Amino acid sequence: MMVNNENVDYMLLHQSSIVVDTHCDTLGRVFEGQRRLGENSKIGQFDIPRAIAGGLTAELMATFVNTERQGSGSLQTFQFIDVFHEEIDAYSDLAMHATVAEDILLAKKSGKVALILSMEGAEGLEGDLGVLRTAYRLGLRVLGLTWNRRNEAADGVGELRTGGGLTNFGVDLVRECNNLGIVVDMAHLSPQCVEDVLDISESRVVVTHANCHVLWQHPRNLTDNQLEKIAKKGGVVGVTAVPPFLGANPEHSELDVLLDHLDHMISIMGKDGVGLGMDFDGVGDIRVGNIEDVSKLPNITKGLVERGYHSQVIQNILGGNFMRVFSSVW
Ligand SMILES: [Zn+2]
Repeated sequence: MMVNNENVDYMLLHQSSIVVDTHCDTLGRVFEGQRRLGENSKIGQFDIPRAIAGGLTAELMATFVNTERQGSGSLQTFQFIDVFHEEIDAYSDLAMHATVAEDILLAKKSGKVALILSMEGAEGLEGDLGVLRTAYRLGLRVLGLTWNRRNEAADGVGELRTGGGLTNFGVDLVRECNNLGIVVDMAHLSPQCVEDVLDISESRVVVTHANCHVLWQHPRNLTDNQLEKIAKKGGVVGVTAVPPFLGANPEHSELDVLLDHLDHMISIMGKDGVGLGMDFDGVGDIRVGNIEDVSKLPNITKGLVERGYHSQVIQNILGGNFMRVFSSVW
């Protein structure tokens, strides 16, 4: 136990915090017509009313290229960006578009949820920096270089055989992200690509959704060595509520296991290196007990209070650490 926190009202602490979640795949569900962002739904894990109930301040909404869907990478990307803006316009009483850190503070003040545009996988750019710059002008602020597969920029963790690092385009892409003020996200990247990004990026970097390899040996999880290097660069990792990345049962896990991963990350990275990247709507309906959807986020604060973390440390984990990166890069 670090500090005796037993008198802290966790709900009050949660409600007074800037709470940032760095990954969800809900734009895809909206694009497929399964849900509207502004309508309270019982399916999936994320919508704005449930986010407000869960005390969330800001969410990263990811574009994603589905190779089974019609349309090129950039077409699918712009279709997702269109959905992003259409939904914010339709529910402007509940949500607002954030492109700078101050927008997130403004959302907190006005009781809205700040939505940030991110991209999961540079296949959405089709190897063209012009597409990146256009997406930036439309609001893109966080770029994940890959999903699990190989693309024009880099190799993902599903492509480990050749030990590939960043391509020439990948190097240019990281530099252009630095120039524009887009945060580079290393989630899903092959180990050599992680090394390359850490070498090349002149700005702070993040991993929006991953857990600890030493606790569960999944290729999507980060080794202690990687965690240490990311922390040295002032980066932040979002612990993620995805059962296959938490432990032996791919169908189910519990919040306590997620908090174990968080404890370990902090032991390696320090208290400033860790945040939340829940991956809502990312992996079907399998979820973590006590964090079944976005409305359950206060349970994380409750668990952190119970584990004896100081209130200020908890606030940094809930959002302060990612806010520091966003303020420095955007
Ligand atoms: Zn992902």
